[in-house]
Parts: sequence; C-alpha cells; structure tokens
Amino acid sequence: MPELPDVEGFRRYLSRYGTGRPIRSVDVRDGDLLRNHPPQSFRRALEGRTLTRPRRHGKWLLATAGDAEVLMHFGMTGLLKWSAGDEDPHPHDRIVLEFANGRLAYRNMRKFGGVWLARSDPERERATGRLGPDADGLERDEFRDLVGRRRGRVKAVLMKQDVLAGVGNLLADEALWRARIHPGCPANRLSERRLGALHRELQDVVRRSNRRGRIPPDPGWLTGARDDRKSKCPRCGTGLRWTTIGGRTACWCPRCQRR
Ligand SMILES: [Zn+2]
Repeated sequence: MPELPDVEGFRRYLSRYGTGRPIRSVDVRDGDLLRNHPPQSFRRALEGRTLTRPRRHGKWLLATAGDAEVLMHFGMTGLLKWSAGDEDPHPHDRIVLEFANGRLAYRNMRKFGGVWLARSDPERERATGRLGPDADGLERDEFRDLVGRRRGRVKAVLMKQDVLAGVGNLLADEALWRARIHPGCPANRLSERRLGALHRELQDVVRRSNRRGRIPPDPGWLTGARDDRKSKCPRCGTGLRWTTIGGRTACWCPRCQRR
C-alpha cells in the first residue's frame, strides 16, 4: 500500500515523464476513478495543458494544470506507469494522459483512491480531508506537540493523516520498532526522551525510504521480516508479534518494545 516514500517515488516519476510537455489528450478508461468531476470536464481541464509543480503532501500527489490542480491518491494498489511504445493499455490503467512521445497511466487494480480536480483550497480540502503537516522534515518540537498530546495509542496517532500526513502502517511500525516503543502505548504517556527518539527514527526511516521510493524490506529492517508470521526480530531474535491497532496489523517485538 503506497505510503509517503512510495508517493515520493511517484512524484519523481511524474516529474520525469508527465511534466514539461503538453497533454495531447486524456483517455478516461474508467470514470469511477474520477472522484469529483465527470470525464468531460476533466478532459477539458487537462487537454492542451502542461503539468507543472508536481508535489507531494502526505500520501497525495498534486500537480498544477492551468487554473486547476490534479490530485492523485493511490489507495492500496495505485501507481503511475509510463510507456513510449504502442502496446495496448494495461487492463488496470484507469486514466491515461497522452503525450506526443508516449503516455502516462494512472494504474490501480483495486480502485481505492482516485483522481480529483480542484480549483480552490476548499475544493482541494474536500478531496484530501484535513491534512496535518507532511511527516517528512517535521521539526522535533512540532512532532512532540502534534503527537505527544494525543491520548490515543501511539501507532494509531502516527497514522492519522490530520495529525501528520504520510505515515502508514509500515512506516509507523518501522519507526516504533527502531525507537523501541510499543505500538499500543498511549501517545501522551511517552516521555520527552522517547518522543525525541521516535521523531529521530521516523525521520531517518523516511529519509532512507524516500531514496528508494519504498520502505525497503531489507535485512535489518522490520519491514523485511514482518510478512512471515514465523519471523524473528532482526535486532534481538525474539519471535515477532502481530495485533490490530487503528484498524491495521501492527507488528512488533515483545522484547524490544515493552509496554
Ligand atoms: Zn527485538
């Protein structure tokens, strides 16, 4: 499921393939994925325009097109795919931007997420919901103020997009595991020192993941071990545990992350 680093990768991809030249036409292959405008007005807003300023806020990818803004969310299975050849579109290509030298597809198998158009701040916020500041580059004091005053379980707080934007299941578990904090610990019970450690680890995980465009399932990362229910903690060798927090499966080490 795309989280901040994945969408950062999509931002670079959009910057490389989707900007700098006009969109010749827009092929809406599945109008369901256009969430707030009919295909006709979406096409009218984009055709002949050049996308500029591709940027990311949390898990949202945004780009300007004339007087409008295109907003993309990748849900569980979304991605961008460029093709320069004339092969047939992939069956999960929902919206395709055609350029003179190829086409860029918004591909999404399970159809969560979608593409929106906004011409004002309120219209954008209706699409994205209220978003907290982006988790990447957040200062320690701001992080402490946002997270450390919440009564909820720390993992659930980290994943709330209106608190800080971009953190999903894997990022939250990885940062908590590195900071040795139990995911079920109430956020407002964490000491200043532990909040500082969590902030540091989250920033480090984000920075290293952004370079790769994903949270890497490497040796030494929790993300590299969590998919196998027989896995051991990459740090101490204790059997990992799983539980549901905030509607998602939390993975943690009962030895490194005591309550
Ligand atoms: Zn451990």
